[in-house]
Amino acid sequence: MGDNAQTTFLDEVAALPACGKISECIQCGVCSGSCTTATHWEYPPRKVIAMVRSGLKDELLKSNSIWFCVSCYLCTARCPRDIKPASIVHGLESIALKEGYKPPTKTTTMYKTFSESIVNNGRIYEFGFMFKYYLQTNPLAALKMLPTALNLLAHKRMPLTPKKVKGKADLRIIINKLSAGGGK
Ligand code: SF4
Ligand code: SF4
Repeated sequence: MGDNAQTTFLDEVAALPACGKISECIQCGVCSGSCTTATHWEYPPRKVIAMVRSGLKDELLKSNSIWFCVSCYLCTARCPRDIKPASIVHGLESIALKEGYKPPTKTTTMYKTFSESIVNNGRIYEFGFMFKYYLQTNPLAALKMLPTALNLLAHKRMPLTPKKVKGKADLRIIINKLSAGGGK
């Protein structure tokens, strides 16, 4: 891959929210060593950053790396250069989705059902969110969660109907602004 292509991918990622310091990474590997799910990644966070800087876009976005991030933010808390690897990983997910790469995990379904719940109710509606998620991924897996769900219901820790926040119109304005890039 030529220099122009390398510059383009790096620039594309560096322009994403909270990703501007990617070029300052010193490849120390603290992010990979801290990452709670890196054992599942084809390329761990340190290498993901190296691949962005090397312009290996297709190889990276085709891999299972980035899709296993659980947003624990240990990498971000510990990075000695304030790079924010978690933001880079999530930025790469959005690029991959926009460009038609197919996620090898159920991560995007989880994000989608979670965010729909927030948009519709202003807060997470656990029962509806998990119901939708299992319906779209593996309905049989929901059976394993049944004892936990019944326990939560019995202790009134998980309402069957959603509780909506007040001021949903204001929430909509905030979401629209963020969707338009106002959250940068
Ligand atoms: S911890 Fe920070 S500086 Fe070290 S490799 Fe990861 S992103 Fe780069
Ligand atoms: S936020 Fe994501 S990339 Fe960072 S340590 Fe946690 S799982 Fe790994």
